Amino acid sequence: MKSLPIPTDETGNQYAAGDVFDLCISSISDADLVQRLEAIRPDIVNAANLYNIAGNAANLYATPRSDQVGNVTGKELKSIYSERLSKIKHPARRIYDKILAAPKLGRCPLCDNGSVGTLDHYLPKSAHTVLSVTPNNLVPSCWPCQMEKRADTAATQDQQTLHPYFDSFFESETWLCARVIQTTPPTFEYYINPPAHWPPLYGQRLEAHMEAFNLKFHYGNNAANELSGIRHELKKLYDGHGASAVTAHLLEAAISWEKAFTNSWTGAMYRGASQSQWFCNGNFYLI
Ligand SMILES: [Zn+2]
Repeated sequence: MKSLPIPTDETGNQYAAGDVFDLCISSISDADLVQRLEAIRPDIVNAANLYNIAGNAANLYATPRSDQVGNVTGKELKSIYSERLSKIKHPARRIYDKILAAPKLGRCPLCDNGSVGTLDHYLPKSAHTVLSVTPNNLVPSCWPCQMEKRADTAATQDQQTLHPYFDSFFESETWLCARVIQTTPPTFEYYINPPAHWPPLYGQRLEAHMEAFNLKFHYGNNAANELSGIRHELKKLYDGHGASAVTAHLLEAAISWEKAFTNSWTGAMYRGASQSQWFCNGNFYLI
């Protein structure tokens, strides 16, 4: 997981929800629809302002659902996103592309595993039509994460997934861990171990996030694949220099990953491997 700055335009200013809405509806030819949409502009702006307040207070789960707003149907509101903001060649698409390009190295901020390919509505537009084109509700995502989450919404504060724009706490300390399971070949089990001084809510939200995107499963698969690629070098190291050399090698790899990324599945894997005496004693290859 990675935090991201609040989306900004080309000049570095945060997007104003009203301006984004104006651009989205600027090329609609249906005069009646334009009139009805313009009439609800204050509702769009107000919802975006309340969204920011709730995001900063970790209370987005309590956001009231919306369908029809004023005289604009939910279907019409959702199409402002699908037929305008995300539509290739529409003038508003540059906002979509700017938000999409925000993550460094093109990595999905929700899983820190896949490549960004789409925008995900943190509060789904199916249940929150008024937020369909609210920039701060649009999070860069990989396709698998979007599929895992679908239109799920949290019913309570502790069930909320992490929001890359509002929840930077999860990057401040290490909480993602992995342990070696003594199988043949070895496997890795991921778990969270939040700092003791963190409020319980943080740990609960980390668990909710891992669950929503099935990350323990995905990270476990990644680790199994990674092990396949390093098995030969570990065996060579063990045969030549023994278990302590394997431990030192794994620890250096863990430190290297941890310096680059907080709470990466790779850093957790290497640290977990370095801490397993059983693993370092040569039990890392297929028998
Ligand atoms: Zn992802």
